[in-house]
Amino acid sequence: MTGLMQGNRGLIMGLANDKSLAWGIAKKLHEQGAEMAFSYQGEALERRVRPLAESLGSDFLIECDVSSMEALDASFATLAERWPTIDFIVHAIGFSDKNQLRGKFYDTTLDNFLMTMNISAYSLVAVTKRAMPMMPNGGSILTLTYYGAEKVVPHYNVMGVAKAALESSVKYLANDCGPDGVRVNAISAGPIKTLAASGIGDFRYILKWNELNSPLRRNVTIDDVGGAGLYFLSDLSSGVTGETHHVDAGYHTVGMKQEDAPDI
Ligand code: NAD
Repeated sequence: MTGLMQGNRGLIMGLANDKSLAWGIAKKLHEQGAEMAFSYQGEALERRVRPLAESLGSDFLIECDVSSMEALDASFATLAERWPTIDFIVHAIGFSDKNQLRGKFYDTTLDNFLMTMNISAYSLVAVTKRAMPMMPNGGSILTLTYYGAEKVVPHYNVMGVAKAALESSVKYLANDCGPDGVRVNAISAGPIKTLAASGIGDFRYILKWNELNSPLRRNVTIDDVGGAGLYFLSDLSSGVTGETHHVDAGYHTVGMKQEDAPDI
């Protein structure tokens, strides 16, 4: 197979099932010849991730709970044992207590605030630190964020605060890694029905609102996200780093309800 990603290999973190944003990206990378390893969190997910990985020609699965620095060290050691160098990483990971993804933001507990920050924002920093020695010839690191980092989206609460930290981390990491030819970017995806999204209060309303009010008058798909992922992880985006790129049918550009949008 020939393609944009021919001869490139990397780690996909955050694949849960065939609805995952990571799956949209992995499929596009595979079409273009990339070789991929997949990390998963816990045995239950391994059962779902293994057949998906196999369908893309990969038998390289690594268990990794990113909230544990020891687990991250062990996972990168396993990765480096088989692949001493890599070209890309997809970080598609976020988590918060779903009971706090509704109601008032100020009801967020300290424990959940710290846990959400750790898994959803700090983990990108910890992953980048461990990936850098494996990217001596440069590379590309991509994370996933959401508009709730920029503007208040009801119910998104502490996750929005963590995504703001994530987007800022992308800029600082891009500046750290730039001299070594490693680029760090984020895709800010519009709402898509996934396992993680199902934890967000009234997510169906968010989906409908975006569909009716975005310039393209539709929601995005994991294939839309996958296409942009391919751009960031390939040389097509060789001059781009520190960027948060919206794949949201243009929703972030709109300041008010569309005239043709019915009440919902
Ligand atoms: P998903 O449920 O398919 O993926 C979330 C992944 O995070 C899962 O694979 C889960 O195992 C992993 N994860 C959670 N805690 C972890 C931990 N401690 N260690 C390792 N992995 C852990 O849902 P998704 O929507 O594809 O989410 C992927 C990313 O996309 C997330 O960062 C999410 O915030 C972001 N995002 C999603 C949407 C959306 O509407 N679905 C929009 C914008 C951004």
